Amino acid sequence: MSEEKQEEVARWGDSTAAVHAGTARPYCQHSLTLPVYQTATYTFEDTQDLKEFMDARMWGLQEGRIEYGRYGNPTIAAVESKLAALERAEEAILFSSGMAAITSTLLTMLSSGDHLILTDDCYRRTRQFCHSYLKRMNIDVSIVPAGNFSSIESAVSANTKLILSELPTNPYLRVVDLEKLVDIGSKNGIRTAIDSTFATPINLRPFEIGVDFVFHSATKYLGGHNDLLAGVCVGSASLLAMVRQNQWMMGAVSDPHTAYLLDRGLKTLALRVRHHNAAAQAISEFLNDHPRVERVWYPGLNTHPDHEVAARQMSGFGGVVSFEIRGDLENAARCIDAVELPIIAPSLGGAETLIEQPALMSYFELSTEERMELGIKDNLVRLSIGLEDPQDLIDDLDQALKAL
Ligand SMILES: *Cc1c(COP(=O)(O)O)cnc(C)c1O
Repeated sequence: MSEEKQEEVARWGDSTAAVHAGTARPYCQHSLTLPVYQTATYTFEDTQDLKEFMDARMWGLQEGRIEYGRYGNPTIAAVESKLAALERAEEAILFSSGMAAITSTLLTMLSSGDHLILTDDCYRRTRQFCHSYLKRMNIDVSIVPAGNFSSIESAVSANTKLILSELPTNPYLRVVDLEKLVDIGSKNGIRTAIDSTFATPINLRPFEIGVDFVFHSATKYLGGHNDLLAGVCVGSASLLAMVRQNQWMMGAVSDPHTAYLLDRGLKTLALRVRHHNAAAQAISEFLNDHPRVERVWYPGLNTHPDHEVAARQMSGFGGVVSFEIRGDLENAARCIDAVELPIIAPSLGGAETLIEQPALMSYFELSTEERMELGIKDNLVRLSIGLEDPQDLIDDLDQALKAL
């Protein structure tokens, strides 16, 4: 993108960027929509054409052309520039999944002997990767309580290279103060990374606050329709150049059809997220007042421990609401079975409201005691609010709770 174009995009609002950013018109055959370049490789006219390409590549000058599918694709490139524009960042790299984005970036930035600081309530597979895989590579990992800055600071040592956190966290929607996190990073010369899947760039833009790497599972809100798997890493051009080199070698690339679906989903991102924000606020307030509900976890409620930070830092509180039903594991399960609209499934961020009991979905193999150690209560229910009319969801939850 030219600098002029980049400046224009930076002035756009979220919806304009979601529709228009990344479009390099005219497209092939003057197609209005983004063409799907369903190809694994690219052709050369003749030997001279190939030589010129190789020469330019040697000097790092081969702008605008690609030789093989793992090194790029025009459909994927268009979505990457839209994602970068939405985060107001320089670069974005699309991956085959959220986990591929996180693991590929960590493997790029960390070497044997380095140290990583990770906050404790992050995505289970991320924690598993850091705890088992990175440790096997002699990368030291400290897991510290999210939001506890003094324990983050005391975990810092001479070989600390990266602090990785998540925001809002799953399932309690905790929100860390990013300015403080970035401050610890810059004071100590340590890079920071945030998994911002639950926030989306509509509610929060960590790169603008100074975070080096922003991850999303694009499978969730960015795609928005539960019909694709993808991940993204966003950041500065210089850092992401290293990540991209690694992706070309490790190969966790996305594919053109997924990129097309993601571009299509992104066009409505701002509209969808604003709906999710408003619906989740209304539903969390309803649940908060319900006698059969013990506690509601939603950062938009002033009873949430991080409400103040979230209100200062975010422009919306997101579409996930967690709540504890009075009683035990069976009570919560009975309520889940009694609702009619929400569907039992893992994941979040799509059009359909999904409901799950974390104790039985993500943490099934653990005992109640082990789950309690991780803070996962048996009576906890997680709702990912979809695009239905909030009142219909409220009526449905009300009949299910009353039947307990
Ligand atoms: C789903 C999720 C991931 C993993 O993303 P995939 O696309 O499933 O690989 C990582 N972090 C968070 C917060 C998630 O919700």
